[in-house]
Amino acid sequence: MRFRERIQMTRRGYGLIRKYCPGLLPAKVSAAAADTLIPFVSIWFSARIINEISGERKIQRIAVYVVLTVLAGFALSMIKNALNKVAEEKESGMWNYFPKIFSDKQLNMDYSDLEDQEIQKQKQKAEENLYMFGNGLAQLVWDTAGLVQAVVGIVASVALTASLFLARSGNAAVDSPVWIPVAILLVGVAGIGTGKLRKKEETVFEQWTEGTVWFNRTFMFFGHTLYDDLSRAMDVRIYRQDKIADREMEKLDKHNREDNGSIQKMSVYPALTEMIRGLCNGLCYVYVVIKAAMGAFPVGSIVQYVGALIKLVQSCAELVNANSGNIIYTEHLKKLFAYLDIPCKKKQGDYRPDPEKVHTIEFKNVSFRYPGSEQSVLKNVNVTITPGKKLALVGANGAGKTTFVKLLCRLYDPEEGQILLDGRDIKEYDSKEYIKLFSYVFQDFKLFSLSLGENIAAATEYDTEKALECIKKVSFEERYRDMQDGLDTCLYRDIAEDGVMISGGEAQKIALARALYKDAPIVVLDEPTAALDPIAEAQVYSDFGKLVDHKTAIYVSHRLSSCRFCDTILVFDHGEIVQTGSHEELVNKRDGKYYELWNAQAKYYV
Ligand code: ADP
Repeated sequence: MRFRERIQMTRRGYGLIRKYCPGLLPAKVSAAAADTLIPFVSIWFSARIINEISGERKIQRIAVYVVLTVLAGFALSMIKNALNKVAEEKESGMWNYFPKIFSDKQLNMDYSDLEDQEIQKQKQKAEENLYMFGNGLAQLVWDTAGLVQAVVGIVASVALTASLFLARSGNAAVDSPVWIPVAILLVGVAGIGTGKLRKKEETVFEQWTEGTVWFNRTFMFFGHTLYDDLSRAMDVRIYRQDKIADREMEKLDKHNREDNGSIQKMSVYPALTEMIRGLCNGLCYVYVVIKAAMGAFPVGSIVQYVGALIKLVQSCAELVNANSGNIIYTEHLKKLFAYLDIPCKKKQGDYRPDPEKVHTIEFKNVSFRYPGSEQSVLKNVNVTITPGKKLALVGANGAGKTTFVKLLCRLYDPEEGQILLDGRDIKEYDSKEYIKLFSYVFQDFKLFSLSLGENIAAATEYDTEKALECIKKVSFEERYRDMQDGLDTCLYRDIAEDGVMISGGEAQKIALARALYKDAPIVVLDEPTAALDPIAEAQVYSDFGKLVDHKTAIYVSHRLSSCRFCDTILVFDHGEIVQTGSHEELVNKRDGKYYELWNAQAKYYV
């Protein structure tokens, strides 16, 4: 990546950190600066004390230096510790904030992109790299601290070494200014050499982490999830899937044994780094000692110059490290930003539906194919849904009923044709306002590990009376009376230890209560009753139909009996609406699809 792009990526990374982890960077930077300065203070004072001891030996001055050394050390340590504490707290918090970056993006991206394998892989890779190795944003935070240490270290050590070259020994060769570039060269070689080695180490690490993403994922699944996840426990026992898990874990063991090469390689680089650094430092010391022996400065200054030179080499190496680190993390940031920059392709207008109006919906020649799929799932669908009517979508599994509903709520846009709300294309509406018109209960609805009230209201602040009313309407009252904390009872035990476990049927009633609570003018029930038998399902549908009598309601089921009470039934077959009419009209058409399906299913209802 070019330097300019790296700067851009780094700045954008800082922007993201500032937004999601406010205060983290200032805390890290000031802690790093304080941390770097402390040794310089002690180097400077030690030199003064030794110079005094080897020179005039004024007790009073020595005492002042000692007291100042102790006080300055104490004060700086206090500041450093306080800053470090803040920085550590902020840093541990950053791991809680990072997921928000991904969830914000997921929430705001097109629904169709959530199903796009490539996009989701892109996200997964960025997440795994960040959470497992800190690659990208976390490394940016750590390396920024490293960069500050390098810069503060270089400035402070140059300030302490400058007088080394100005001091005169009387010997022209030793005092020659030529030693300045020589020293810079040595420090540079040590620094750059160290940096280059670190880059090599990082490259091996990069290759190694490519493999470990797979390794960790497989390990987490076969080592933990397979056994910890209750929803899998039954299948694992019945089909003895633990044997497959053992086999996969053996593969991981084998991978581990073969992988030792990379780890050994990585440990060679730090050793080489130390060697180069030691050599260059040593040559610099020779110069300092010769100059001191020739009387250019007192013996205490040796401590200052040697100490400062060690720090200078170290800081230069840190600067090179910061640069190599930047090359690496900007590559990761680039991948993260590529994911975060995925545009919302879904167009939306700013038209707001009139809340006072009863709404008519019209599907006009609508055809649809799922992204990446060859097959049309809906073909030339035409239907008008008039306000207040009960509409049933029936048909075999896979006929296209749920897809119809997904298009209606704009999770996807039609490939051809239009969906109109009150005569206006739904793309022209503000999508947040548009979605307010609907209450949905999906096949695979999800409740959260929150309180019952929060689940029903889908909000933390809610109208208690209204929530209780909805509980009554969906016949959840009896179970509700057993719940000791009433609406504050927590569902499930993911978060609250005393959370209440609820059955599938109870969860479904809560989901229905949530749909009632929203009180939207159009209600959609998409087979949330899959766990019930056909007769119970038919009961739920017709009871719910009575509850939302004045609203437009759309019921989806592959069980025909559930929807008998509806005004109009749309019969789906292979993505097409093949019949429309009431149950009585359709059941008598002996050559129709409805008649065929009805007879096939009738045995359940007789
Ligand atoms: P129904 O609700 O009538 O059972 P769906 O509308 O769910 O049917 O599915 C219709 C067809 O679309 C099925 O063949 C199904 O496999 C396919 N399908 C559903 N969802 C997706 C998806 N996200 N990506 C690709 N194909 C899908």
